[in-house]
Amino acid sequence: MSMYSLDTGMRSSVPELIRRAEIEGAVLSIEEIEELLTIADPAELDLLWQAANRVRAELIGSDIWMRGLLEFSNVCRCNCLYCGLRADNTGITRYRMSSAQILAAVDRIAKAGIGTVVLQSGEDPYWTAERLVSLIEAIKRRHDMAVTLSIGNRTESELAEFRRAGADRFLIRHETANPSLYKEFHPDSTLEDRVRQLRALKDMGFETGSGCLVGLPGQTTADLSSDIALARELNVDMFGVGPFIPHPDTPLREASGGTALMTYKMIAVARLVLRDVHIPVTTALSTLEEEGREKGWARGANIVMPNATPSPYRAQYELYKNKRCIDDTLEHCLGCLSRRISSVNRTLGYGRGGSLKKGGQ
Ligand code: SAH
Ligand code: SF4
Repeated sequence: MSMYSLDTGMRSSVPELIRRAEIEGAVLSIEEIEELLTIADPAELDLLWQAANRVRAELIGSDIWMRGLLEFSNVCRCNCLYCGLRADNTGITRYRMSSAQILAAVDRIAKAGIGTVVLQSGEDPYWTAERLVSLIEAIKRRHDMAVTLSIGNRTESELAEFRRAGADRFLIRHETANPSLYKEFHPDSTLEDRVRQLRALKDMGFETGSGCLVGLPGQTTADLSSDIALARELNVDMFGVGPFIPHPDTPLREASGGTALMTYKMIAVARLVLRDVHIPVTTALSTLEEEGREKGWARGANIVMPNATPSPYRAQYELYKNKRCIDDTLEHCLGCLSRRISSVNRTLGYGRGGSLKKGGQ
């Protein structure tokens, strides 16, 4: 283990840094966050995993909450360079679920005892604010459940309408906190837009979720530490990190993509730095590693988002290839996840699993 710094007084050693973050709740600098993200020594990595796991256990307990993910349209007007749903990709079959289909899928989520539906889509012009408001209201009339939107950029007046209609949460990753990388990969929006939206959502009383991709071409560990620092500044309620998985029908087809290891480090360091936030294990992580969920839960994560999108749409929501579990039903996924949760001695969280900053209700 590296103990170089205590003597020189210039930098803390890794064990000391982890201790300060875990026990003292020290506010780490961007450089210190980066130091944790560059840990390579297996013994130091173990210290990191264990500290993140203890902070999760102390602040949240053993519960893992499920969010039912419903990918209701794969139509997108944007051209994010990494994404299989980008408008210029003519190689996928586009679909839009009808309101009736969406409500039927939401009924199944509610029947399974899951307290949250995440309505996710590309930036689909068909789904005007008016149509979404009717959908949110219909869900709220039928079920006592949290409604989360993950539909990309919207105007502030639209966001306010969604909130009035009863939407509780909004997920919109800032993707990368490096403005020039953001510009390189997103022809349709700026990092400023996303940050402005995340702030506006908070002001309107939404619980917010941001997050980033790991392993974008040109992305450094300094960039990743800025991703965690930005989430801290935005006081997000949830932080989702997933490895970038190159899609063959996108301009980034030749890229090498993100690693599971760096994704685990981001989960663990985010837990130490952000503390009382929800951290999911993402489908992209479990696509890279079969044991991704179990390892993620043991290293700071406390959320999983089972896919509730019915066939054949689930396979057509192709952000990247080889997405896990594309042929399974929601009920099959739940059985599998419940077994995985018990296998790591954790428990299934009931209810909505709301913001930990508001007591988790
Ligand atoms: N259109 C909305 C929501 C759907 S995309 C939005 O962009 O916010 C949901 C997430 O999928 C994005 O935030 C992005 O981080 C992730 N994603 C897209 N392409 C991916 C890829 N090739 N590998 C891994 N994650 C990807
Ligand atoms: Fe569209 Fe979201 Fe994919 Fe960008 S990441 S192309 S906004 S679905």
